Amino acid sequence: MAALAELIDFLYPPRCAACGARFSDAACRICADCIALLEPIPQPLCAVCGGPLESAASFEPRCARCIATPPCFRRASSVARYRAAAEDDPRSLPAMLRRHKYGLDQAVGRALLEYLGSRLPIDRGAIDLVAPVPLHWRRLLWRGFNQAALLAEEVSRRLELPLKAAVLRRVRATRPQTARNHDARRSNIYRAFAVRYPAQVLGRRVLLVDDVMTTGATVDECARALMDAGARAVDVFTLARVL
Ligand SMILES: [Zn+2]
Ligand SMILES: [Zn+2]
Repeated sequence: MAALAELIDFLYPPRCAACGARFSDAACRICADCIALLEPIPQPLCAVCGGPLESAASFEPRCARCIATPPCFRRASSVARYRAAAEDDPRSLPAMLRRHKYGLDQAVGRALLEYLGSRLPIDRGAIDLVAPVPLHWRRLLWRGFNQAALLAEEVSRRLELPLKAAVLRRVRATRPQTARNHDARRSNIYRAFAVRYPAQVLGRRVLLVDDVMTTGATVDECARALMDAGARAVDVFTLARVL
């Protein structure tokens, strides 16, 4: 099989999944130029939700919303900034995520994981297991895969921590989260998740993984279900964050 893969690489040199350019590193699916287009998240950040802060005056800075209504998760972190406006550029992360989400390009799934690079802002000593944000089974059937699950798989492999892919489930289908407003998103997703196997999370520290975080309403509902089931703590990791 390895010889066949080499022959295919020779006949069809790999192309970058983002810009389509040919490049030589057969182990990668996204070229260095496209990786360099990733936008870092502007500092300073809220120590809880990972969102932007007005100022970094205090020792453990928290944003106004985390002070007013603390989320169920302990802290959230992301690798890159997600700007919906960048979607017009096919090389951008939003365009890549969109192509992947709607199944237009299945190869993009593996490519997305390369965006993680060595940037995994997670302290593995503070985590016991990794779990993805689940899709409703109807949407999973329609789409065929869950991009959060693919990411969670890669994260657990890199951190060498167990993956519990089915620990959470959606107990009701929700409308797509199109509202920008946090309260509207929260009421749409309220009580949409349940823990399928409470014994798997009892007393454990869970790293919840999703592709994009917008207001944090979805991951907070997942964290609520996990904490209600007896998890000791929930941290959140997303590839990108809408800012
Ligand atoms: Zn490229
Ligand atoms: Zn915050």
